[in-house]
Amino acid sequence: MNKIKNIIFLISLIGLFSCNGANSSDNKNTNTTLKDTTKVEESICEIPDIDKKYLLGQINPETDTLFVTVPAKYCLMRTEYMHRDALDPYIQMYEAAKLEGINLGLISAFRSFDTQNWLWSQKYNTNLNDTDAAKSVLRYIAMPGTSRHHWGTDIDVLQTKLNYFETTAGQKAYKWMCENAPKYGFYQVYTKGRSTGYNEEKWHWSYMPVAGNYQKQYLDKISYDDLTGFKGSNVAKDLKVIDNYVFGIDSLLLDQ
Ligand SMILES: [Zn+2]
Repeated sequence: MNKIKNIIFLISLIGLFSCNGANSSDNKNTNTTLKDTTKVEESICEIPDIDKKYLLGQINPETDTLFVTVPAKYCLMRTEYMHRDALDPYIQMYEAAKLEGINLGLISAFRSFDTQNWLWSQKYNTNLNDTDAAKSVLRYIAMPGTSRHHWGTDIDVLQTKLNYFETTAGQKAYKWMCENAPKYGFYQVYTKGRSTGYNEEKWHWSYMPVAGNYQKQYLDKISYDDLTGFKGSNVAKDLKVIDNYVFGIDSLLLDQ
């Protein structure tokens, strides 16, 4: 069963995947001639190198060309920014859902390290020891530097309360997302029944054609030494936040 699901996932990604723009550097292969088709194919499929600052959210989306402003009509709370390759698929998904009476306006998209740090410290109970305080916040909020929202590929839509998804409207919207979001490249990463990581999040969807690269490079480039500058960072390693939370996602999405 898992195999079949994996194949379906891969087929859908092949249809959606585009290598363009998933990095900040200029195309290194601009001198490749069209006569050399092998080289062209290699350049098309080259996995772009992602700088650590993008993996950790230490950028300014207002000035960074890898990011775009989401038009206001799609933002429910404030001005949102997304990875430039994720915006069009998101808009197409939004418009398709709208035809079914479902509003996929953004509750949250890109979040910087600083914003995540602010959210983190709001919930951090300094009366507890660092391990307990961090564990408690980690039920729903990522440690600064470990959130997929840093990548601009992940969005929160509908409602960020699980009980909404027990209502008729919530069930209809979630069913629509499960059936249709993958057509646009979006997948639920925090699914039910995982053994590690955050609780289930029916509102959080990840644009895997780009986020898949971010995941791979996070694994290669980010260590616990990179997670500093916030309350409880001293217990990040003990709590294995990279292993258990960054990679505590649906197993079908781990090897993409
Ligand atoms: Zn989220």
